[in-house]
Amino acid sequence: MGVADSEVQSRIGHDAVPDAGKLWTDILDYVRPRISQEGFETWLAPTRGRAVRNGTLEVEVPNSFFADWISQRYSAEVRAALTGVSGQEMAVSFQPRDAGDSGLLIRRSPVRRPVLRPNGYRLQAHLTFDSFVVGESNRFAAAAARSVAERPGASYNPLFIYGGVGLGKTHLVQAIGNMALSVKPGLKVYYTAADDLFIELIQAIEKNTRLEFKNKYRGLDLLMLDDVHYLVGKERLQEEVFYIFNSLHDAGSQVVFTSDRPPQDIPTLESRLASRLGSGLVVDIQPPELETRIAILKQKAVMDHADLPDDVAYFIAARVRSSVRALEGSWVRLLALASLDSRPITIQLAQETLKDLVKEDEPIDHNRIIKACADHFGVSLNEITNGGRTKQLALARQVAMYVLRTTLSLSLKEIGSLFDDKDHTTVMHAVKRVNELRAKDPAFAARLEKLSKGISGGEPR
Ligand code: ADP
Ligand code: MG
Repeated sequence: MGVADSEVQSRIGHDAVPDAGKLWTDILDYVRPRISQEGFETWLAPTRGRAVRNGTLEVEVPNSFFADWISQRYSAEVRAALTGVSGQEMAVSFQPRDAGDSGLLIRRSPVRRPVLRPNGYRLQAHLTFDSFVVGESNRFAAAAARSVAERPGASYNPLFIYGGVGLGKTHLVQAIGNMALSVKPGLKVYYTAADDLFIELIQAIEKNTRLEFKNKYRGLDLLMLDDVHYLVGKERLQEEVFYIFNSLHDAGSQVVFTSDRPPQDIPTLESRLASRLGSGLVVDIQPPELETRIAILKQKAVMDHADLPDDVAYFIAARVRSSVRALEGSWVRLLALASLDSRPITIQLAQETLKDLVKEDEPIDHNRIIKACADHFGVSLNEITNGGRTKQLALARQVAMYVLRTTLSLSLKEIGSLFDDKDHTTVMHAVKRVNELRAKDPAFAARLEKLSKGISGGEPR
């Protein structure tokens, strides 16, 4: 089996090394498909099993920063793997390569180590409202989530949060659970994702434990059901969710859903379920604007006790725009590099980090966009940014605002400030108008697309 018990261990001493190595490799093989490739390569690839001693598998990691990080983020997966692979109770301890290592540049205070809540809730302690940065893009969703967490069942029920991948939906619903529990510790709170619920349901059917399954969900005070777009095409699951939702709702319990799209856009969803999902409050999360991206990076740095200079934060935030997850990925990667080589966090290091991480995310500065739009409409830069009320100028300006908004995710206020301090409502109106034109005029839509592509592809026209 390759797993020695502690008695065997103490006898064979050094010979235990290959066993520990093999055990850890098996564990890694189990963990690999369950976490992101990025996370695996960064954090787990540079580790190795060193020994099994006193029922503990000792794993060597590059430094104490890695030790902290792995035990904070991947302990659930490692624990699951351990039971699966070794078939016995065993602890894992992550040990820095150099005993005297102090975590180098980045010291994490032990107080920050999350207290793992009883597993039953399936909540991750670090996903809280405190660690959730609020900006224009998620303000409404965050406020709604908070109000639900303070008084589950009393305000918006159900709460339905939707938005693209990596924009913070899971974080928000986990925060709801954590906060609700700290307000009212006895609360029966449960988090699950629709795909996990599906597995659970299948197992309940196979093992003939439908009743337990039903009772478990029926008895909750607060249920967070993540990623309900997964329900598409799974009629049996839809039926079950419909049932669970109704019984919880009738009992006055709170339900929170997330999805990558609004309820009415979940195709083939049985209409009675679709209307239930959208029967409370539906809120969306948009990609974060530049300011929010900077704020998120700065907050991650504070949480990680690392020193992130403003220029580096800006450098990263200007380039990594697609999601908070990508942003966080870059930050984590940067931290890992800094800690491995014991280097300070500088633009140069950020450049190295981002090089192989975000290829397509070239920075586009706003001046280039405005210039490209001006050129496209045959007007001057001065005309487009200041005054000028002709129809052609107004349209050029609106298009420029639209492109700034869609390609750079600048805030309305920020865009306004680039055009002679226009009010944010003016920008909002511009974006809306361009969207309308786009919808009803295919030729305009094509021109707009060409213009946007030209800009992000580095061509001025
Ligand atoms: P989703 O569920 O929408 O795909 P997640 O909730 O998993 O996205 O978020 C991806 C990562 O980004 C998580 O690590 C989360 O903690 C982080 N994150 C997302 N939004 C924020 C935010 N506003 N402030 C801080 N961290 C955030
Ligand atoms: Mg999620």
